[in-house]
Amino acid sequence: MATYTPPLRDMQFVMHEVLNVTADLQAMPMHADMDADTINAVLEEGGKFAAEVLLPLNITGDAEGCQLDVSTHAVTTPSGYKEAYKQYIEGGWAALACDPAFGGQGLPMVVNQCFYEMMNSANQAWTMYPGLTHGAYAALHTHGTDEQKQTYLHKMTSGEWTGTMCLTEPHCGTDLGLMRTKAEPQADGTYKITGNKIFISAGEHDLADNIIHLVLARLPDAPPGIKGVSLFIVPKFMVNADGSLGARNGIYCGGLEHKMGIKSNATAQIVLDGAVGTMVGQPNKGMQGMFVMMNAARLGVGNQSLGLTEVAFQNALAYAKDRIQMRSLTGVKAKDKPADPIIVHPDVRKMLLTAKAYAEGGRALLCFSAMLLEKEHGHPDEKVRKESGELLALLTPICKAFLTDNGHISTNACMQVFGGHGFIKEWGMEQFVRDNRINMIYEGTNTIQSLDLLGRKVLGNNGATLKKFGKLVGALVAEEGVNEKMAEFITPIAILGEQMTKFTTEIGFKGFQNPDEVGAAAVDYLRVAGHLVFGYFWARMAQVALKQIAAGNTDPFYVGKLQTARFYFAKLFPETATLMRTARTGSKVLMDTDAALA
Ligand SMILES: Cc1cc2nc3c(=O)[nH]c(=O)nc-3n(C[C@H](O)[C@H](O)[C@H](O)COP(=O)(O)OP(=O)(O)OC[C@H]3O[C@@H](n4cnc5c(N)ncnc54)[C@H](O)[C@@H]3O)c2cc1C
Repeated sequence: MATYTPPLRDMQFVMHEVLNVTADLQAMPMHADMDADTINAVLEEGGKFAAEVLLPLNITGDAEGCQLDVSTHAVTTPSGYKEAYKQYIEGGWAALACDPAFGGQGLPMVVNQCFYEMMNSANQAWTMYPGLTHGAYAALHTHGTDEQKQTYLHKMTSGEWTGTMCLTEPHCGTDLGLMRTKAEPQADGTYKITGNKIFISAGEHDLADNIIHLVLARLPDAPPGIKGVSLFIVPKFMVNADGSLGARNGIYCGGLEHKMGIKSNATAQIVLDGAVGTMVGQPNKGMQGMFVMMNAARLGVGNQSLGLTEVAFQNALAYAKDRIQMRSLTGVKAKDKPADPIIVHPDVRKMLLTAKAYAEGGRALLCFSAMLLEKEHGHPDEKVRKESGELLALLTPICKAFLTDNGHISTNACMQVFGGHGFIKEWGMEQFVRDNRINMIYEGTNTIQSLDLLGRKVLGNNGATLKKFGKLVGALVAEEGVNEKMAEFITPIAILGEQMTKFTTEIGFKGFQNPDEVGAAAVDYLRVAGHLVFGYFWARMAQVALKQIAAGNTDPFYVGKLQTARFYFAKLFPETATLMRTARTGSKVLMDTDAALA
């Protein structure tokens, strides 16, 4: 079975030494008293919950899966899931970063982010049950009426009720404008909702007393397409005026999907049979509320892959030190053994370091993004709020797509370190590969993320937000440009930053004449942008490590950080050159292919 040690030291490094989060947090009234010790103590406890409670259920949950009783529509989660969820609620984990006005603990989002990384490492499928609730909570918190907030947010904060997001229908996935589910207004101000949703994560289960579905549907007079979609709260059980549970609503699970990974998370076909719902926000403006949820979920999905990358790396590293096969090319290393441990082989190290560099770069990016989210909502200065929101919007598709693609590369590499044993279930490595695969698909496929990044977030505002990130890179280059020791980290990002400007203008110009040029370049473009972002954070991490070493700190952690930074810039970052080259080959080789694809 896989093992897991919460990466608390690295989380502390990112939060306190690289990003200095407490200074930023203390500038916000709600976190004025926040200090590093509190953050560290919470995460230490959170790590225990992940490693001791959730990890042991990961393999058994995968084998057992969820069961649907077709006569009652009830779904049973695997053995131990319910007890773990009870512990999660009793430990107050559900309320960690929620608003104190609804019973939350009001801790910073970056703490919740790190806690979720650990839960994802331990058991992604289990973690999706409470994870979906956070997105639904955020949508209601931003767009719900006072009455809706009072009715639902207390119990969602405590974790007694969970949430879902119901968008997808059999004929409508990426293109939500094709949606057919209907919402008919009733005399009492509610809506009667009828339709079929599919692929709804955590759509039915036995962990919580109630499930609060956030459902997209169309009003009878709705305009066609995405501009005619409204958002509704549809609880599994109606809620009485005193907050107690009332009648069973007409929303139920009609089937469970059998799938490649995350097998213990119930992926439900949801039937709405005249279910009672209340509208969130304005008619036909449902995507505004849903986008709050989707953006939260996109960061959450990136975090799922970060968790899997970390746990896969930890297990592959331990295995590579233990497994002996062949001798090192440079002579015997383990004289007392019949062969050397496989960690002596260059390519095994490459696989390990790939996962390590992607995990640690991803952690820095997600912690930075969680701080942007915090500032967007809680900073007293309006300018900071606005700029944080804009930068986060730019980084969100990168967090989702770059981290999940890197998770795919990393979990596969770590499985490969195990050779044939990685393919065998008992080590748990093949499960990490399978579980990660969905992260590249749901919450908008990674292709859709890349179109969002290039089409909307970059070309949509003539590169203005990209320039804001460019300013961060520029400031680091200016700060360290004459420091010879930093040159190996600064020069590549300085060069790529300049190339990105030209690269973006070129695609924008070609796209103006032929929109397929944007579609043809977008996936490569996102990966290049992802490396610029990772390069920036790796340079900052190297900067901190170099300073510590220069000051006489002998903690090998800093040497390891520098070595990983060097590996990242030498072996992973250079793929940007190939990606820019393939992006520049344009759309013709893709679109003039009717004979090839006949
Ligand atoms: C396990 C699981 C859990 C899920 N959980 C949820 C959930 O909780 N709630 C929910 O509402 N949905 C959920 N989904 C649905 C998921 O979000 C969709 O599957 C996803 O958005 C893609 O939609 P689709 O499957 O219909 O693919 P399609 O939209 O049919 O896309 C097929 C392919 O075409 C590509 N494509 C489509 N349009 C374009 C374009 N314009 N340019 C380039 N390429 C394009 C896509 O990238 C994809 O590769 C889940 C799915 C799964 C499998």
